[in-house]
Amino acid sequence: MDFKSIIRDIPDFPQKGILFRDITPLLADPQGLAEITKDFQTRFAELNIGAIDCIIGIESRGFILGAPLAMSLGCSFVPVRKPKKLPAAVFRVEYALEYGTDTLEMHCDAIAKGKRVIIIDDVIATGGTAAAAAKLVDQSGAELIGYGFLIELDFLNGRKALPEVPIVSLVNY
Ligand code: AMP
Repeated sequence: MDFKSIIRDIPDFPQKGILFRDITPLLADPQGLAEITKDFQTRFAELNIGAIDCIIGIESRGFILGAPLAMSLGCSFVPVRKPKKLPAAVFRVEYALEYGTDTLEMHCDAIAKGKRVIIIDDVIATGGTAAAAAKLVDQSGAELIGYGFLIELDFLNGRKALPEVPIVSLVNY
């Protein structure tokens, strides 16, 4: 499936100068999610990185893509959420945005120490969000073995901000 031809570009959203890559038409395609899941699974299998114990999805589009992948792999799914959404004790990471800061949280008991995890999100732009999620994995004592993104914005060099683990991206701009 040609994902790029189905992903929609919205200029100046959510603010002027940003070309927003809108994946909702791809999700609306009856084959879309199945094809994305299959491609992620094939690409991770090709990397020979061994068993995957857990998929971590970053709120909120990382949930949509991560949950079916976890189901398909037969592994656990753990949500990384915006602040004050998770009810039990959390690990917390604050990270810098262009203006101000943002925060991500994950339940302390979500992943056991030593588990091998992959972080999934829809887009990697500057890499700040994905790097923050890696810090939560670190706090949990789990082992980050890879990243998966549906879309990578190559010109922003976001992968430079990430720990040195394999990165799978299905569509590049
Ligand atoms: P960053 O932390 O800069 O890598 O930004 C990544 C987060 O922002 C992801 O969770 C994306 O969903 C969102 N994002 C950033 N840039 C775009 C874009 N051009 N189109 C769609 N989503 C974006």
